Amino acid sequence: MTQSTLPKPSIAIVGYGSQGRAHALNLRDSGFDVTVGLRPGGPTEAKAQADGFTVKTPAEAVKDADLVAVLTPDMVQRKVYEEALAPNMKQGACLLFAHGLNVHYGMIAPREDLDVILVAPKGPGALVRREYEIGRGVPCIYAIHQDKSGNAKQLALAYADGLGGARANLIETTFKEETETDLFGEQAVLCGGASSLVQAGFEVLVEAGYQPEIAYYEVLHELKLIVDLFYEGGITRMLEFVSETAQYGDYVSGPRVIDESVKQRMREVLKDIQDGTFTRNWVAEYEAGLPNYRKYKQADLEHQIEQVGRKLREKMVWLDNSRDQKEAA
Ligand code: NDP
Ligand code: MG
Ligand code: MG
Repeated sequence: MTQSTLPKPSIAIVGYGSQGRAHALNLRDSGFDVTVGLRPGGPTEAKAQADGFTVKTPAEAVKDADLVAVLTPDMVQRKVYEEALAPNMKQGACLLFAHGLNVHYGMIAPREDLDVILVAPKGPGALVRREYEIGRGVPCIYAIHQDKSGNAKQLALAYADGLGGARANLIETTFKEETETDLFGEQAVLCGGASSLVQAGFEVLVEAGYQPEIAYYEVLHELKLIVDLFYEGGITRMLEFVSETAQYGDYVSGPRVIDESVKQRMREVLKDIQDGTFTRNWVAEYEAGLPNYRKYKQADLEHQIEQVGRKLREKMVWLDNSRDQKEAA
């Protein structure tokens, strides 16, 4: 589908963090009229202004918008929706999410006159922007929760196209499928699984008496090469590039580490996501002021692999440490 056949709604982006900034910049460069909604005086307001956007309060920003993208952290979306969006959005406007959590688990029940859609880039915001700037895109999945206007799908396609997602791939999904697979992916594999695997590998080597610096290079630094090969050509390409010895070790030892018991625990993680246990716990943790979240985070930040890594990365002068720190999944 070419861009010209798609609608061109005026857009209010509420939130200017990882996704918000990337969406706002890409959509503006794709020719959309974009306004940014933020609470006054917050840390990202100046950034949006420096990028040339008109910044209003969320309540003001959404008043004239045909489409409102909710790109604040998931845990504040309910409050933002109830206080600023629901009372101020135009009749028949479109409400867009980049993750289906609040709608899928019933924390937000959108007004009946609205179209409610999802466009979720399968990558962090910084990558959504970077890929767009070099003429490529991050694949996006989209879904329709409520199609009051009969035009909801066209709006989702227009938004995803404006993000650059159509250059990579667009796949239709549901709020349920996006929410549950996104949570599973980040918990079991991308963030949780990968960081725990790296930490465990580092600990085993250091406890066995090897130098922490060498353990760092071996289990963390070199992971980039492997992930880049996965990205370019899947496991096939990785196997083409590593030595025969590495391949044989992969075949005999990989399944010893990630065995059926790991898969069983992955199924348990998935079940907690599907039946709402994970989200209930997360909402309770957030409402209690994040006591465990802070504890877990502190423990990760103090792990020996972080201390060793900070020292070693100082020598990697090509690393762009000025880039946005926040690139969560
Ligand atoms: P961020 O944590 O980066 O969002 C921060 C932004 O939200 C800031 O501009 C902040 O403004 C604003 N904000 C925070 N609280 C409020 C509030 N009460 N009222 C108004 N604005 C507020 O979010 P992400 O970009 O990580 O996530 C946004 C959505 O995208 C989520 O639904 C997430 O699940 C989804 N998503 C995220 C991905 C990612 O890579 N991070 C990937 C795909 C989807 P201030 O300066 O005032 O603090
Ligand atoms: Mg090696
Ligand atoms: Mg996510």
